[in-house]
Amino acid sequence: MSNQSLINLAYLTASMLFIMAFKLMTGPRTAVRGNYLGAAGMAIAILAACFEKPVVLSLTTYGAWPLVMLGIAGVIGGVIGAVMAIKYPMTGMPQMVALLNGFGGAASTLVAGAELWNMTHNASSSDAVLMANSVRQLAPWTQFAIATALTGLIGAVTFWGSLVAFAKLEELKSFKKAWTHPLRHWINLCLAIATLCLIGAVCAYPDWTILFWLLVVVGSVLGCTLTLPIGGADMPVVICLLNSYSGLAAAAAGFVIDNSVLVIAGSLVGASGLILTAIMCKAMNRSLVGVLFGGLGTSTSTISDDSVYAGKIKSAGVEEIAMVLEGASRVVIVPGYGLAVAQAQHAVRELANALEKRGTTVEYAIHPVAGRMPGHMNVLLAEADIPYEKLREMDDINPTFPETDVAIVIGANDVVNPAARSDPKCPIAGMPILDVDKARTVIVVKRSLAPGFAGIPNPLFAADNTLMYFADGKKAILDLTAALEKA
Ligand code: NDP
Repeated sequence: MSNQSLINLAYLTASMLFIMAFKLMTGPRTAVRGNYLGAAGMAIAILAACFEKPVVLSLTTYGAWPLVMLGIAGVIGGVIGAVMAIKYPMTGMPQMVALLNGFGGAASTLVAGAELWNMTHNASSSDAVLMANSVRQLAPWTQFAIATALTGLIGAVTFWGSLVAFAKLEELKSFKKAWTHPLRHWINLCLAIATLCLIGAVCAYPDWTILFWLLVVVGSVLGCTLTLPIGGADMPVVICLLNSYSGLAAAAAGFVIDNSVLVIAGSLVGASGLILTAIMCKAMNRSLVGVLFGGLGTSTSTISDDSVYAGKIKSAGVEEIAMVLEGASRVVIVPGYGLAVAQAQHAVRELANALEKRGTTVEYAIHPVAGRMPGHMNVLLAEADIPYEKLREMDDINPTFPETDVAIVIGANDVVNPAARSDPKCPIAGMPILDVDKARTVIVVKRSLAPGFAGIPNPLFAADNTLMYFADGKKAILDLTAALEKA
């Protein structure tokens, strides 16, 4: 079997492992195995790429240096990746995902830029001679130039868009507020037209590499101006979309360097990211077009904290809440971002056990954007071995709230905010929420009246049937379990 056949076989194996990994990652029980398979596929793909013709040819010119540099880069990248994965808390995963999307986009852009330089400046390469002869003719070079231009553009948009998303998720002060310049749509339109012109110019004159880098600069600005106007509450959609962009950039880079596994892996990421974006849009009642052109979730509510809360908040202690729970036959637990911050998932499991021992039915209501990443609550509760059958999706559990004795909201805020239904001007207007306000009694566990990610007051806290339990999520639940077991 020839060298190239072996490389192709390795790429095929890697692609199959990626597809199997995607399948396994659709369920929390098999997700870890899926992750390992994906990593194994990537290792095989990297190894196979080291035996590709250009790498082997470079060894005859530069000795072992290219391989040494590849090794050094791999070790540095691997160490940084491992340290980030270990150090970053679970609550910081979306920021990490945003960074990784961005790095993927940047890598694709650099690969395309390097290949373009190689093709146009490396006169000793037979490919370059071929290109010099046919640079302004149609066919393979046009295809190469289009793929290169698209990689540079999508990669740049992804990199800078992801950095802005990272800053927003980190809640960095200057990025917290959405950029709502009245001319922003015109600015974006001008930038989009400029990118189209530059793509045409790169295709017409691929040997003028400066045009490619100009395209990258305009794409970088576009990445920022498209992401900056998006309001905090809509970040889940943006993260999914940028994830998809990073896949598309990688797939385009695969065409640039004629690497099939990059095309397959990039297409898988691009397609799955788009599907997730559509799911998130549906969950948040947003249109994909609105997301693509930016400027979502920027409306501002006129309702102040005082007008919502003044004189209406009922705070309760652990004994009082334990008494309410003693008489409940059906309890629904609603987890949110604060549960992840408090790492209260194991305590929640103990509370559920204590309630079930008393004959109470306990279920969990899962909102698709609760927490800070898609599936955040599912992963968190699975970590505490909470049976998956007890987790119920929003559409499924919402009709049952009127028959629920007690809804315990732990560290959730935006996803249970009735303002989404009643205030058309608030940033989460129209977003479907968990209808906990319809339960007979609502207990809200959080540390203060501070707002959630969307930054707006929550009328649920002031409702007649709501009791506020101000404490850290974990401590509150442990104390509550102890009080319930004593009763
Ligand atoms: P929110 O961000 O709306 O609210 C979280 C609440 O948790 C806060 O009000 C906070 O109140 C409380 N909290 C924080 N720490 C603790 C603690 N230690 N103990 C108890 N409570 C705590 O969370 P939700 O899950 O309700 O909503 C998610 C929001 O994040 C939505 O707006 C969504 O759009 C957005 N988002 C979601 C992403 C996703 O993919 N799922 C990605 C990015 C953003 P206090 O400080 O008073 O304790």
